[in-house]
Amino acid sequence: MGIAGGTGLASSTAVGTDDDANADEVPEYDGTVVQVLSMGGTIASTPGEGGASPSQSGEALIESVPELNNYADEILVEQVTQLGSFNLDQDDVADLGEAARNVENIADGIVVTHGTDTMEESAYHLDLALDLDIPIIFTGAQRRPDEVSTDGPANLITSFRAATHDEIRNGVYIAFNEELHAARDVTKGHTSKLETFESPNKGPVAAFTRDNVRLYREPKSYSVSLSALRPDKTVSIAASGQGMDDRQIKFAIEQGDDGLVLDGFGLGNTSEILSDAVQDAIDSGLPVVVTSRTHAGTLNAIYGNGGGQTLKDHGAISGGDLPAHKARIKLLLALEATNSVTELRDCFSSW
Ligand code: ASP
Repeated sequence: MGIAGGTGLASSTAVGTDDDANADEVPEYDGTVVQVLSMGGTIASTPGEGGASPSQSGEALIESVPELNNYADEILVEQVTQLGSFNLDQDDVADLGEAARNVENIADGIVVTHGTDTMEESAYHLDLALDLDIPIIFTGAQRRPDEVSTDGPANLITSFRAATHDEIRNGVYIAFNEELHAARDVTKGHTSKLETFESPNKGPVAAFTRDNVRLYREPKSYSVSLSALRPDKTVSIAASGQGMDDRQIKFAIEQGDDGLVLDGFGLGNTSEILSDAVQDAIDSGLPVVVTSRTHAGTLNAIYGNGGGQTLKDHGAISGGDLPAHKARIKLLLALEATNSVTELRDCFSSW
């Protein structure tokens, strides 16, 4: 059993401590290998002047939970970045994806330690962009290591159990509070509770008891595959609110954005003023995807006067049951392949 740390950034292929190793050689390990990729977040944070920030290395996190050695013969650690997840961007997530690709032939499973705030975006991004033959399990914590009853160690154990489970052999997930959620469906549902992650309408893929794992759904990716990993487009999210004007949408058009997500009300409605602006956006060549600010359920084009039927008639694309922030990730990646509205609509009508 051992823990090998790599301090390089994701662009480096080094995942072990063997300085003499040829970079092109695939190292061989005996037994079950888990690769940990560390991104920062509360699980790695300590308090400080100006607020808490991630400071503990991935290696330190793993070493603080010796029980992890019960689930892996070899634990490899790479620090991809060290940020609160509210500061991550698509390049950081692409670095993470490249680091994951680099170890596909070395590890039996990958555990990503990551902040909870945007964990679902990173997980969904990798679920859309990668198609690895090993599972990627994201985890983190709601309470820092210095807080009473920190949840990081228990979440790490759940993530290792998932990463090495015989029946969870591919796909991207979030393991948290003894549950496993599919990347496509999971969302952060509470600012501070330990049971924050949920999959509205779908439920978790699996639940972990002390000595058992109960699978509720087939563990696999529930997303289409889009091969771009490092998107270079600009897509923002315009919110809907009572009486709001259309400045956000006008700005997106003026800036020459590549696409727009309109976060609507209820079944996917918005006001007449915003739906008129959506029409202008579409007329100027911007694909617009509509989502709902309502926490659960899918869209339905029922209402006129700016409602879902009006938006549909204008040519907007339905985001289905994806929340706005996930529809944005999907649109960013899909736009790398096409800006045909028909193809984008097909892409959004499949998982
Ligand atoms: N609250 C966050 C966390 O749980 C901070 C972040 O997203 O990094 O990690």
